[in-house]
Amino acid sequence: MKRSLVLLAAMLVIAHPIIAQGRGGGGRGGRGGGATVAPANNSWPLTADSASYIRRTPPTDPGIQRIFAEGFQRSQVMKLAQQLLDSVGPRLTGSLGMESAQRYLVHTYTSWGIPARIENYGTWAGWSGGTAHADLLFPRLRSLEVHPMGWTEGTGGQWLEGDVVIIPESVTSPEAFNAWIPSARGKFVMVSAPRLSCRMPRQWQEFGSEESRAANQRDQAALQQGYSSRMVYANGPNGLSTRLQEAGGLGILSFGWSNYPGINKVFGSPRVVVPNVDVGCEDYGLLFRLAQNNQSPRIRLLVQAERLGERPVGNVIARINGTQLPNEYVLLSAHFDSFTGGSGATDNGTGSLVMFEAMRILKAAYPNPKRTIIAGHWNGEEQGLNGSRAFVEDHPEIVAGLQAGFNQDNGTGRVSSLSPGPFSNARPALERYLSAMPSEVTQWIRLGNASSSPATGGSDHASFQCLKAPAFGLGALSWDYSSTTWHTMRDTYDKVVPEDLRNNATLVAMLVYLASEDPQKMPRDLAPMANDPATDQPRPWPTCARSIRTSMQSNR
Ligand SMILES: [Zn+2]
Repeated sequence: MKRSLVLLAAMLVIAHPIIAQGRGGGGRGGRGGGATVAPANNSWPLTADSASYIRRTPPTDPGIQRIFAEGFQRSQVMKLAQQLLDSVGPRLTGSLGMESAQRYLVHTYTSWGIPARIENYGTWAGWSGGTAHADLLFPRLRSLEVHPMGWTEGTGGQWLEGDVVIIPESVTSPEAFNAWIPSARGKFVMVSAPRLSCRMPRQWQEFGSEESRAANQRDQAALQQGYSSRMVYANGPNGLSTRLQEAGGLGILSFGWSNYPGINKVFGSPRVVVPNVDVGCEDYGLLFRLAQNNQSPRIRLLVQAERLGERPVGNVIARINGTQLPNEYVLLSAHFDSFTGGSGATDNGTGSLVMFEAMRILKAAYPNPKRTIIAGHWNGEEQGLNGSRAFVEDHPEIVAGLQAGFNQDNGTGRVSSLSPGPFSNARPALERYLSAMPSEVTQWIRLGNASSSPATGGSDHASFQCLKAPAFGLGALSWDYSSTTWHTMRDTYDKVVPEDLRNNATLVAMLVYLASEDPQKMPRDLAPMANDPATDQPRPWPTCARSIRTSMQSNR
């Protein structure tokens, strides 16, 4: 992921459309495609009068009753969450943290009697991280709030000490950058514009005058545009890091604003070859102003991390074989990789834990399924759905035999929307499934209509939908996901909502049970594609992107 604020802002909108907030926001645009499920009104819970699939009576299906009891009365999901998020921690693709998290998954599945293994699909930049500490030494002493960026180089057990500089205004061309870069020897370089105000937009809205708001927005835009244009001559943070290394520079300081005080988005790239830390909004602004005003800020930095070169990467696949239709499949899907600022709790620890606990529930309540049940804990989603794309390429038999797949990847909230994706006749099947479930679970769910295009990115059901295999995205209530936790250093265990997670794991177990037992096959008929306004003809079906199987092939 690129770290310039301009690109970051664009990415926030493109790769992860802002998820509707609050109770009225159950509709979620299915990241990268799929139907937006517009709520009929703003209230939950739904009732049997407002949605035909909400039961008026308790469920009668004994399998559903067993799953309901296992999931609600004997839930293990918060115990698993604490083990995974606190003890194992973040799961950056290629990192040793991810490898130990995968071993934890396989070990726990094995202890439940569910066969599971790591299925390698390629290699990625290996990394062992890490802690970071930094202090301002001049013009005054202060501890600085820093976090290691993903895949950052370490400082070799030493404190690195040097001045902090910004790229000066005189850099207005590649030649001017070339003339300037030697002066960065022995220094740290700041790669983004700071925020003029680390207050949240809501405060500006409530307390600012029209004049103060306008001034802040104008000045922020000018600062950002000015600094981004200078970073272009450095070829962005990745390019700058290479040139800085050649010039004998010490490291780069990054900043990713989340719209909330105290919360940064912490990304990273294997292409950054020098020590690289994220700096909190206030401290980043402080260093930037000191540098801009020639007050010679000097810091020391210690980063404990190591770049390990290309290492094998894989998905964790768990499997309960079908007894009657073993070559037809029901899939539980969630990416397991994360960024490193926090613990990857809601992106996508919660989706992973929902699938993990649902498998435990299924093994306890439905051990001999009709169809084969597979859980895919994907790697490399954050670098472009690489794990799930590799899986569909490597397993055409599962794509062909897929009865249904269920993917979740937008945080801890209760599942509040279910979209049939581009499958025009899938809605009645999904409605049948919901109708068999207790209203305690379905009262939160708005079932959408088929969409006029497949999901094209955003999360892993897109890898299956593109191949016209029926995988569905489960949309959750946001809990302010996009500003609070998504890729931030506050994405931690405490953000998980226990009741919502228990609800979601039970829901997924029920969906999987019903899809497995379904006497009918899930229809794969496709809804007509939306028209392209330029030609007034239906858009063509998109070309399915190939998985990227080494970090060298990736530009992220
Ligand atoms: Zn995610």
